[in-house]
Amino acid sequence: MKRTLKKEVMEWANEIRVNPKEIQVCHLKNKWGCCTDGKLIFSHELLNKSKDFRASVIVHELLHLRYKSHNKIFFMLWQAYLNKKGIKLNPCLVRNYKNKLKRKT
Ligand SMILES: [Zn+2]
Repeated sequence: MKRTLKKEVMEWANEIRVNPKEIQVCHLKNKWGCCTDGKLIFSHELLNKSKDFRASVIVHELLHLRYKSHNKIFFMLWQAYLNKKGIKLNPCLVRNYKNKLKRKT
């Protein structure tokens, strides 16, 4: 199961042309994924979600390898990469990330 998730991450990494140093799947509290120093961590609970939902989280974290902050370009690319594959970005996810951003500032 974890292998499925890692495979999906690698497929998206190819698409976005980024190279994650390491991909880990583990238990994350209150988070779907995070990105630190080129290393990506994903919650294993993503495996209970739909493939489209997972893709939204995966693309988000992979884009952090290029853009550290949730700026306009970040959101545009996030949507663009998913749209290209006919995946609709889950509004709930966007809200969560925006909230997280708010809390930081
Ligand atoms: Zn983020």
